[in-house]
Amino acid sequence: MKALKLIGPFKQLVTMANLPLKGALTDDQLTIIEDAGILIENEQIKEIGLFTVMLSEAKQTEIEVIALQGNHVCLPGFIDSHTHICFGGTRAKDYAMRNAGKTYLEIAKAGGGIWDTVTQTRKAASEELIKKTLKRTKQHLKNGVTTIEVKSGYGLSVEEELKMLRAIKNANSQTPLDLIPTCLAAHMKPKDFSGSNAEYLNEISTTLFPILKEEKLTNRMDAFIEESAFSKEDIRPYFKKAKEIGFDITVHADQFSTDGSAIAVEFEAISADHLEASTKNEIELLAKSNVIATALPGASLGLGCNFTPARKLLDAGCALAIASDHNPGSAPMGDLLTQAAILQTFEKLSNAEVLAGITFRAAAALNLNDRGQLKEGLLADFALFHTDNYNEILYHQGAFKPCMVFKNGALVYDKHQTN
Ligand SMILES: [Zn+2]
Repeated sequence: MKALKLIGPFKQLVTMANLPLKGALTDDQLTIIEDAGILIENEQIKEIGLFTVMLSEAKQTEIEVIALQGNHVCLPGFIDSHTHICFGGTRAKDYAMRNAGKTYLEIAKAGGGIWDTVTQTRKAASEELIKKTLKRTKQHLKNGVTTIEVKSGYGLSVEEELKMLRAIKNANSQTPLDLIPTCLAAHMKPKDFSGSNAEYLNEISTTLFPILKEEKLTNRMDAFIEESAFSKEDIRPYFKKAKEIGFDITVHADQFSTDGSAIAVEFEAISADHLEASTKNEIELLAKSNVIATALPGASLGLGCNFTPARKLLDAGCALAIASDHNPGSAPMGDLLTQAAILQTFEKLSNAEVLAGITFRAAAALNLNDRGQLKEGLLADFALFHTDNYNEILYHQGAFKPCMVFKNGALVYDKHQTN
């Protein structure tokens, strides 16, 4: 294989570069290069420019040329910064019961709820978890997603959380996409743990944290801060220990009640995710901080609840990422592009704000600075759409899928060749 590769021409190349990390964006702030080409060296973008000029230079050197037919719009590969795609079982029955008006308790009594997913995930062999995670990864790839965060949190014991995180690591080695693992052992206190919340968290931080570091299973520590899960008092010693060991912090915050965002700010978390219940106070607090605010429209759609106040967060000056929250209980759809497009209509977001939320702002939510934009030196991760205008993409509300996806400079999905 030749080291250098030229791809193009793209009718429009939307770089998502030179935009502020925080605050509202308008579409006229976007840098759009017409009739563009991308020169790739190894896994990275070496140059972006006019395709015809680059092509005539390429003819004089040893460059592989991938010449596209018809009109294509090129965007950075999408980044889904919050998912729970490693799990066993299904919650289709819960979903039907909830929509039919059954209460949380009635569903739990019928054997449903998160504990069902924990039970099914614990029962699943590693191989099965790896296979299922890879299958869901493929589904995201067809949407143009090239980086996916994947949480543990359905094991809820040292041993079972390790099984999940090792399965995620293994799945990552079998897919061209990047799976970014996060430990969510603090999802809830497991039913079969007889001690207090504090005792459970202490056991996890004392026993699990050192193994995670030793086996390099994750750099990220998440917690669900909610009345039904962990209080801010529960979580402070846990996060303190996580920070001391060097984990990045991320928080499931303000989904139903509002303590989570304050904890995220207090611990300088990389991101605070959910925020459906955030009020003016929480929004102002987040806007003053460097915490990325992540909207999860998939959870709102799955539960039939309010959306994250994305417009207010942006107008207050927050950095807004948008992620799928793909999980068996509240967000089974797992279609980031559709969800982002739906959030856009309800929250009145510009195309630039939505695209930023699933590209460079989502990269920031994962503390990654090597992707999310198309510019020299970054990873050559991009998605191509068969159209002459980028406005068409969100206009079709997720029904318009990419025709090709490149990851680290390699073609990893081609709609024409797969079903
Ligand atoms: Zn989640």
